[in-house]
Amino acid sequence: MKALVYHGPGFRSYEEKPMPIIKDSTDAILKMTKTTICGTDLHIIKGDVPSVTDGRILGHEGVGIIEQIGENVSNFHVGEHVLISCISSCGKCTNCKKRMYSHCENGGGWILGNLINGTQAEYVRIPFADNSLYSIPAEADEEALVMLSDILPTGFECGVLNGQIKPGDTVAVIGAGPIGLAVILTAQFYSPSEIIVVDNDDNRLEVAKKFGATQVIHNDLGNAAEKIMVLTNNRGVDVAVEAIGIPSSFDICQAIVTAGGHIANVGVHGKPVQLNLDKLWAQNITLTTQLVDTVTTPMLLKTVMSGKLQPSQFITHHFTLDEVMQAYDTFGNAMKEEALKVIITNGIMMDKVEQVSDIFSNAMLEQTTLKDQLAFNDSLGG
Ligand SMILES: [Zn+2]
Ligand SMILES: [Zn+2]
Repeated sequence: MKALVYHGPGFRSYEEKPMPIIKDSTDAILKMTKTTICGTDLHIIKGDVPSVTDGRILGHEGVGIIEQIGENVSNFHVGEHVLISCISSCGKCTNCKKRMYSHCENGGGWILGNLINGTQAEYVRIPFADNSLYSIPAEADEEALVMLSDILPTGFECGVLNGQIKPGDTVAVIGAGPIGLAVILTAQFYSPSEIIVVDNDDNRLEVAKKFGATQVIHNDLGNAAEKIMVLTNNRGVDVAVEAIGIPSSFDICQAIVTAGGHIANVGVHGKPVQLNLDKLWAQNITLTTQLVDTVTTPMLLKTVMSGKLQPSQFITHHFTLDEVMQAYDTFGNAMKEEALKVIITNGIMMDKVEQVSDIFSNAMLEQTTLKDQLAFNDSLGG
């Protein structure tokens, strides 16, 4: 099968890899239908994630169809259409019982596209399938559901729930990448009065407004904290969400959090930050950190199905799996390309089938070839 493979810092290739096989009785093998690229994948390519070794297939998000299940998988059947959680979890260990799936003690956690082969491939092995997959309702837009593998639960759990956003709160989101935008969307479940968004990219700030930001601040002069204090009459914000993962954005959060407020860290930090306890020790603040547990995925799935949450807004680009190298180039130049999330389809996309159809009919090729391709595409549900 074909897959996107990491080959040490700076190197990736699209190449032939062996098909995954069932290793444990709780595994499922999925044929991928759609996947995407995460900011974390770019960090891996840069060499920032040393747990990922040469030869690893990347990707921890996507939807697919179950091809094979181990004998102890009881919640799913072959042929079922499923959403993959970026976190694999046994559901039985002490941490899983505490709904802390990201710290599963039986070898789960964030392992897909990290410690084991991931989803940017034609097929993937999902360990602990019963607790790590979610059934997709027949009428769902599976492309939109790809956003539920990682970014929406991450924004919601690590930003909104940890930040304890309440009706009427003033919220600041530092960083308007896909995760920051996921925070903006899901914060609105709780009707905050203001959502102030800080970023350095004009396009992302425009998008943030569409997603529900009430004020946007371009931080080109590095004075976002002062601007937020002016906007809030020097009161600061009830909840500051750090959605980048660099010291300067954490510093903004420390400077703007009001007494009794929350700093919810979502960003992945590669360097230490300074904690200004000399200013904060008496401010009754709460600082939270978390790796997403994806325990809210069923609830988020319901809000998507009801139309209250529309994750398709994140999708800016489409590629086929064969174009995954190009997809990385585009996502890696997100600012220039105005990219948020790219969808990578395994198989032939419908608009491409139409193009192929023209070429085929022009060439008077056998009808069966096209029919086969259409049937193939149908079998992918798209
Ligand atoms: Zn991710
Ligand atoms: Zn566990």
